[in-house]
Amino acid sequence: MTPTIHHTLKTIFGFHDFREPQQDVIERVVAGEDVFLVMPTGGGKSLCFQVPALHRDGVAIVVSPLIALMKDQVDALVANGVRATCLNSSLSAAEVGRVFQQMDTGTLDLLYVAPERLMMPEFLARLSSLKLSLFAIDEAHCISQWGHDFRPEYTQLGRLRTLFPAVPIVAMTATADPETRKDILGQLGLADATVFVAGFDRPNITYTVIPKQKPLVQMAAFLSGRRDEAGIVYALSRKRVEQVAERLQQAGFSAAAYHAGLPDYERKRVQDAFRKDDLRIVVATVAFGMGIDKPNVRFVVHYDMPKSVESYYQETGRAGRDGLPSEALMLFGMGDVMTARNLIENSENAERVKIEIQKLNAMVGYAEALTCRRRALLSYFGDLREHDCDNCDICTDPPQRFDASEQAKKALSCVYRVGERFGMMHVIEVLRGSKNQRVLDFRHNQLSTYGIGTDTSASDWENIIRQLIHLGYLAQDFTRFGILKLTSAARPVLKGETQVILGRPRDAVETVAKGKKRAGGRKDYDQALFDALRATRKNIADAAGVPPFVVFSDATLAEMARSRPTHSREMLQVSGVGEHKLRQYGKVFMDVIAGYDKENASKSASNLSDADLALTLSDTQKETLRLYREGIDLAGIAARRGLKYSTIAAHLEELHDLGADVGLLRFVDAEKIPLIRARLEKVGPGSLSELREGLPETVSYEDIRFVRGAWKR
Ligand code: ADP
Ligand code: ZN
Repeated sequence: MTPTIHHTLKTIFGFHDFREPQQDVIERVVAGEDVFLVMPTGGGKSLCFQVPALHRDGVAIVVSPLIALMKDQVDALVANGVRATCLNSSLSAAEVGRVFQQMDTGTLDLLYVAPERLMMPEFLARLSSLKLSLFAIDEAHCISQWGHDFRPEYTQLGRLRTLFPAVPIVAMTATADPETRKDILGQLGLADATVFVAGFDRPNITYTVIPKQKPLVQMAAFLSGRRDEAGIVYALSRKRVEQVAERLQQAGFSAAAYHAGLPDYERKRVQDAFRKDDLRIVVATVAFGMGIDKPNVRFVVHYDMPKSVESYYQETGRAGRDGLPSEALMLFGMGDVMTARNLIENSENAERVKIEIQKLNAMVGYAEALTCRRRALLSYFGDLREHDCDNCDICTDPPQRFDASEQAKKALSCVYRVGERFGMMHVIEVLRGSKNQRVLDFRHNQLSTYGIGTDTSASDWENIIRQLIHLGYLAQDFTRFGILKLTSAARPVLKGETQVILGRPRDAVETVAKGKKRAGGRKDYDQALFDALRATRKNIADAAGVPPFVVFSDATLAEMARSRPTHSREMLQVSGVGEHKLRQYGKVFMDVIAGYDKENASKSASNLSDADLALTLSDTQKETLRLYREGIDLAGIAARRGLKYSTIAAHLEELHDLGADVGLLRFVDAEKIPLIRARLEKVGPGSLSELREGLPETVSYEDIRFVRGAWKR
């Protein structure tokens, strides 16, 4: 009796239920029909051909554009006990021979090939003598010139439908654009295919846009609570990518640069290290793109604004493929808009310029919007939502309004006084009474508006002026260095006849901290146990030479940390644990869970009650503890309290010493802990500088402090 597709889903892949529309797609393909599947990244396209491949006779041929993508998918299938392999240019003749043998003897369920390989006449001849279960065409938009990633080698695939009339084809893409979709169907000859279009929403991604003020500081605040998490930082130019990567490295983050100007081997090294969780942050230009199918990318930061909403959505979409909560943060500065506009306007092609300016304007509109981000994004793609999402910065932290009539009046009259011949920065300098040479050269220190705005910070002025532009009181001439001019709407404001209501500039660090609290607040599992499971996964993956996500996904580890299975039967209940993986890894992970429970039980016994703490703590320690318990991370606490990071770190160690329930080790990179421990064993918990000797430079005093605190207890 053949097993049902549900049985396969459970025993092989370890999942309990199909997602929409997997079951429908799979049933049709099993029945031999063609399917065209449009589904967002992370939606679960792979199962739609992998399950049918196990339910139909013969070998499934999977076309995929990139070797790295193929390898990951094959590794993941093999880890589930499925007979899969790939053919690509990196194989030796002997290895190719072995693959052919497997195909001929019918001992292979899925074969991944590059399109140019598949369409070679000898290979097609070989296939025609075999039993084929299906063709799966991944990243099908590569066949279309309309798409964003046209690949000439894909065009040949159009012949498959006529060459193999009896073999079903599954074509898949995440592209949102209807023109491209139509083109794909035509080119592949899939006139009879059933088309499935899944919604484009990515509910697990939290969208946040903050005004760009001190971008490096803002980013450090965002990243500091995420030292253990993988993420991508996009910047627009190669130079900027290198600068940002360097600064992050200096601040002790595990970060590397990636752009098209780097040698191949360096790009490969970065991508590999990222896949293997050896590298946390990739700072990249858009060149870091399709090769990334790493499912546990927890955040995507746009250090610079992208050129279109399409690019933005595609890039943010690389976060959270595993379905766990993830963040998309964009830093938005008016200066970037001007740079982008200048670049576009340099182009010769007038028609192109018009389109690109429109796209850029839509992007700016999104960034400045004061309505739910998700609704704005989805409506851009024609998906209109009735309700706010409750998972973006605007929904959870709506901007406050305030009467800005006085400030508007000051700003507008200053624009007038400088003769409507200067840009925003100069106007702000005059308002704030700067002694800048340029201000003096133009004698702007003698204007009546000189120094009338010292009570408002430069960045708040920028924010106010930006809103005045957006609301049409000021016009900015982009063809002439962004010069500010008054519009006719400005007059009543200057005369005090109109009230100007603006959104209060939000404290960027605060917004980030709130977002983090939100993301952290949804975690309903024990972070320390998750970390322990993750460390085990890394060891297993390294030994097997595969990326950690091939062993188990973060979602699976999170569920283990939540349900704490200690018997095989319980372990099989965890989503992502199939029978093969249970046999392979079940025991190791169950041992970690059993061992952890004991250790944890003894730890909580030593924690003091709040009443005890109230007696022993100083006020400043209490305040740090209060903020810590709100889920704000150390950099956030430091920023809020106006204290140094090192001071907050010292508080935490003291709190820990006094018996408060604060986890210290989660602030330290896992690989540093054993090094510091070894040092502690040797010299004891003495001074930080003594401990620091002989440790690598990447180990900070705070790292030592935290490990020392935990070690003492
Ligand atoms: P896509 O190719 O559409 O980007 P994938 O096929 O890589 O997405 O799937 C994304 C993630 O979702 C993977 O981690 C996968 O294991 C998981 N997944 C897919 N289908 C299911 C399901 N039915 N139940 C649980 N997890 C699933
Ligand atoms: Zn929202």
